[in-house]
Amino acid sequence: MDRTAAITVVGAGLIGSTTAFALHRAGYAVTVLDAGLLGAAWQAGAGMLSPDGEGLSRGPLANMARLSLSLWPQFARDLEQSSGLSVHYRAGVERLQKDGLRLCTPAEAQVHPPSVVRAALHGLEVRRESFCPSSLPLSPHSSLTILATGAWSAAFGLPVFPVQGQALLLSAEYNRPALFGWRGAGAKGYTLCRPDGVYVGATVRRSASTAPDDHARRWLGGVACRLLPADVAQAPVSQTLLGLRPCTADDLPIIGPHPTLPGVLVATGHGRHGALLAPYTAREVLRLVNQRCDTDCNKCR
Ligand SMILES: Cc1cc2nc3c(=O)[nH]c(=O)nc-3n(C[C@H](O)[C@H](O)[C@H](O)COP(=O)(O)OP(=O)(O)OC[C@H]3O[C@@H](n4cnc5c(N)ncnc54)[C@H](O)[C@@H]3O)c2cc1C
Repeated sequence: MDRTAAITVVGAGLIGSTTAFALHRAGYAVTVLDAGLLGAAWQAGAGMLSPDGEGLSRGPLANMARLSLSLWPQFARDLEQSSGLSVHYRAGVERLQKDGLRLCTPAEAQVHPPSVVRAALHGLEVRRESFCPSSLPLSPHSSLTILATGAWSAAFGLPVFPVQGQALLLSAEYNRPALFGWRGAGAKGYTLCRPDGVYVGATVRRSASTAPDDHARRWLGGVACRLLPADVAQAPVSQTLLGLRPCTADDLPIIGPHPTLPGVLVATGHGRHGALLAPYTAREVLRLVNQRCDTDCNKCR
């Protein structure tokens, strides 16, 4: 395989689009396929880049998260410079303390997931197409397939399951840093000011349903009342968002060769951290593709 060989990225969510972006930038010819499935997590994701807020303090996931967080400022600049589109990177995340004070972590941040996907796919060949597991392994003209199929990855034999999340977008003028509720008071949940409104998130339910429910809406209303000024919390709901997080049993993403299919790499299982882990994942996949390219070139010499 050389750099002009075609790479097919299946899935144009947060992981597929940013991985395709990194490969394209490194000189690979990339085609992206996406089925436009209802429940795609990137359409509902908040865009918090907050290992602290997520309680990631130790272990391999925390290490990945910290590394990825440190890659985000430059990654955001690269996305914006190459596309001319903003990804709405904003530094600073606050956490509500037991005593009601807010603790700010300046190194943490937020992005706007739909804008990240749009910027990453800018200028790439993207086809609206559902990719069938039975078409793997692909014919010789496609040298490498990368599966970034999110919560639908089990169809490709991967141990990933969907965890539904719901959130609300409020139509209000408000401009504060992202805020995590204090977990001890049952005030879990968070709010972010985004270009499309004030985001209130997010429920967690092991389900593949794509139908929003009233119980979630009531819970989110409670989060809004606890974390936002009254006039903002009572602003009209402009959108109810629902997405299926691609989760794994050990909470770790799956990044590497497919366990049984030759010529297939996998980047999935990012659970509730796909926005946070996107630059790390894109870098890892690029490293694996470069490695494969070098090995194949050495064989030809
Ligand atoms: C409510 C909510 C809030 C969240 N908040 C945050 C947050 O604050 N911070 C954070 O880091 N993460 C957050 N996440 C998690 C984050 O959104 C996900 O981890 C991330 O979107 C996963 O990216 P992905 O590309 O693997 O999957 P997705 O974004 O779901 O994209 C998968 C894509 O693959 C396509 N696809 C699937 N199968 C096929 C096929 N066979 N053929 C073609 N296309 C296919 C789908 O159409 C879809 O577009 C949140 C998620 C939810 C639901």
